[in-house]
Amino acid sequence: MKCPACGHPEMVAKNKDETLSFGSQSLTLHTMHGEFCPVCDEGIWDAESYRRYTEAQAALLRAVKGDISAEIRRIRKSLKLTQTELAEAFGVGKVAFSRYERGETRPPAPLVKLLKLVERHPDLLAEMRGVSTQGEHPRGITSRSTRTAK
Ligand SMILES: [Zn+2]
Repeated sequence: MKCPACGHPEMVAKNKDETLSFGSQSLTLHTMHGEFCPVCDEGIWDAESYRRYTEAQAALLRAVKGDISAEIRRIRKSLKLTQTELAEAFGVGKVAFSRYERGETRPPAPLVKLLKLVERHPDLLAEMRGVSTQGEHPRGITSRSTRTAK
């Protein structure tokens, strides 16, 4: 078989271990079989190894999602807030945190970052409650009717 990456004419069949990692999780698949390029190390798994690879990838993703759920719950508990109280402070729907903690919905990355910031600086919570999520009405700017017509 010709290497699909560099065009080297001969791929070598061999077994090897493949480590997948995602977020804080990693997983090693042993004795994966495929053909590999001796020049650029590009590899093509055989059907069985490819199936194991995609299954492992899915399992890893589930594990990472579980991680985020557990992390959110842990931070919320450390802040001594109910899911509803936290949702109010964040300006999201009442059931949002319940969904995140059960892994039903993947929390948006900015929310996770904000939550981690609040964990480090719990005094931000009081400020967050006072911050509106609505756009402020711009002051000193008059309405669009003053725009010049084309
Ligand atoms: Zn190659």
